[in-house]
Amino acid sequence: MAYDFDLFVIGAGSGGVRAARFAASFGAKVAVAESRYLGGTCVNVGCVPKKLLVYGAHVADELEQAAGYGWTLEEGHFDWGTLIANKNREIERLNGIYRNLLVNSGVTLLQGHARLTGANEVEVEGQRYTAEHILIATGGWPQIPDIPGKELAITSNEAFYLKALPRRVLVVGGGYIAVEFAGIFQGLGADTTLLYRGDLFLRGFDGSVRTHLKEELEKRGLDLQFNADIQRIDKLEDGSLKATLKDGRELVADCVFYATGRRPMLDNLGLENTGVELDARGYIRVDEQYQTTAPSILAIGDVIGRVQLTPVALAEGMAVARRLFKPEQYRPVDYQNIPTAVFSQPPIGTVGLTEEQALEAGHKVQVFESRFRAMKLTLTDIQEKTLMKLVVDAETDKVLGCHMVGPDAGEIIQGLGIALKAGATKQQFDETIGVHPTAAEEFVTMRTVTR
Ligand code: FAD
Ligand code: NDP
Repeated sequence: MAYDFDLFVIGAGSGGVRAARFAASFGAKVAVAESRYLGGTCVNVGCVPKKLLVYGAHVADELEQAAGYGWTLEEGHFDWGTLIANKNREIERLNGIYRNLLVNSGVTLLQGHARLTGANEVEVEGQRYTAEHILIATGGWPQIPDIPGKELAITSNEAFYLKALPRRVLVVGGGYIAVEFAGIFQGLGADTTLLYRGDLFLRGFDGSVRTHLKEELEKRGLDLQFNADIQRIDKLEDGSLKATLKDGRELVADCVFYATGRRPMLDNLGLENTGVELDARGYIRVDEQYQTTAPSILAIGDVIGRVQLTPVALAEGMAVARRLFKPEQYRPVDYQNIPTAVFSQPPIGTVGLTEEQALEAGHKVQVFESRFRAMKLTLTDIQEKTLMKLVVDAETDKVLGCHMVGPDAGEIIQGLGIALKAGATKQQFDETIGVHPTAAEEFVTMRTVTR
């Protein structure tokens, strides 16, 4: 049977654009449907605008440090409207780049919501298209627990477009987004409280990292409240919001920001017209090659709920394009040792096993840990400490994990990701010459076992 397209991609986000562009460059006839914004979550309401706001908040640190370096500055004034307008202009520029990338690689771009009408058929704006393969790359969407007053709260989607910086913010959650946005709001001058339902935020990260970040955030004056959760939200007469906690306490703020995880975006996708099944958590079930339970339909990225990071969606998109249209270049995605950063203030960079995971996996573990005040702060009164930690297998000498909390942690951890992928040993770390004077050199000069 002749199809309209070899590959029809639903969603022009990180994974979808990568798969579409490369499939087209391998000679396939490709279409992409996008209902909302080119570039998806990462470009529009995720990594990119988030990092710009983090940079904005970080300027406050630079200003604070300036006096120690002899600079006298007039009192600074921050204007949220300018930051958001400049951010929006940059996002529009990126949207245009994504459009050109797709169009110039020969992909047919369809604007509108796509709905599956069969295993080889998609409907967009009343028009039906057939395809030999269909790729679902529809990403995720923020979810707020079902509490009274939830409609008064916002999520990251709305935070990027707030008209004004709220004076008092309650951030709910203890994952990446909660910690990053707490730093943004507080850095830009809002009175910020972070409420997390458990004992300590960032579950799954290394224990030393979690504790160290907690201490540093508290030094900065962030109000951290653990074992705290909101039961209901009410609007007060003056327009502010009252959050009643499960323990009965009441907190008043101008904005309640929820970052309690994301669900797969499956709204009106028409999965019922196909044999595509979901897994126990509600994400699209796929095999090792991203094939769903309907043989002509594949899925990648946040919608399969494996590792919700842009570089992972990109790698999965690449793997699908190669497997379908350039099989001689196919390589499976390696989910081991994925480096990642949390752009908190100070940021976290991490790759490999945490100390807890290494012990649980049965390794005999040696830990090397260093805490120090970064050189840049020595001419200032700021007492922030940087943490660096190596988790090493005592029997094989292999470095199992590298963890950092401190300036540029994300930049530093990228190179260590290569070392871990190459299977580096602690001895090879020790034999690597440091770059002096940097903070990063500490990773190759830690000699004493901490435990
Ligand atoms: P998405 O990028 O979400 O793309 C899905 C696209 O599909 C969207 O454009 C959507 O409009 C479209 N779509 C959905 N349904 C349909 C339909 N039926 N028809 C047509 N189009 C449809 N990751 C990092 O690695 N680093 C970070 O710093 C980082 N920061 C983040 C900050 C925030 C606030 C958030 C929310 C996420 C962040 N992420 C970060 C995660 C990252 O954004 C996602 O992992 C990544 O975007 C997933 O890509 P994807 O292709 O699966 O989906
Ligand atoms: P996460 O899954 O990372 O964290 C969700 C947080 O919300 C957890 O602390 C969780 O607690 C808590 N939570 C979940 N449900 C409830 C509830 N009903 N009531 C109270 N608290 C709840 O989700 P995020 O929304 O922060 O981010 C989504 C994903 O996006 C991340 O996991 C990450 O993959 C990606 N991302 C990556 C970034 C980066 O690379 N820098 C930045 C931002 C996002 P508990 O731990 O107890 O379950």
